[in-house]
Amino acid sequence: MIDPAVFRAMVANGATPEMLLAVVEAAAARQIPWAKLRIMAFERDGERCAYCGDGDGPFEVDHIIPRIRGGENTLDNVCVACRSCNRSKRHWDAPRKARA
Ligand SMILES: [Zn+2]
Repeated sequence: MIDPAVFRAMVANGATPEMLLAVVEAAAARQIPWAKLRIMAFERDGERCAYCGDGDGPFEVDHIIPRIRGGENTLDNVCVACRSCNRSKRHWDAPRKARA
């Protein structure tokens, strides 16, 4: 997903429809299928919550920037989280970065 402000800025600067399409296609190409992304996240993070450090589980793979806010299915935007952190963060509004 692309920030609409990016499109507005591109149009304001004279971007052609072909240039806009290229941006959309590049964003789509970065997306990783969820089943594969889950495996990659566990391989990178192990069985430990990226938010609280809990190692007990059960674990879920969490979007750091939620999909509804434009977060992408990329490894940079997911982390392993325990269920309580993943559930509770749905109500958080402040932007966060799970991993240093
Ligand atoms: Zn946690």
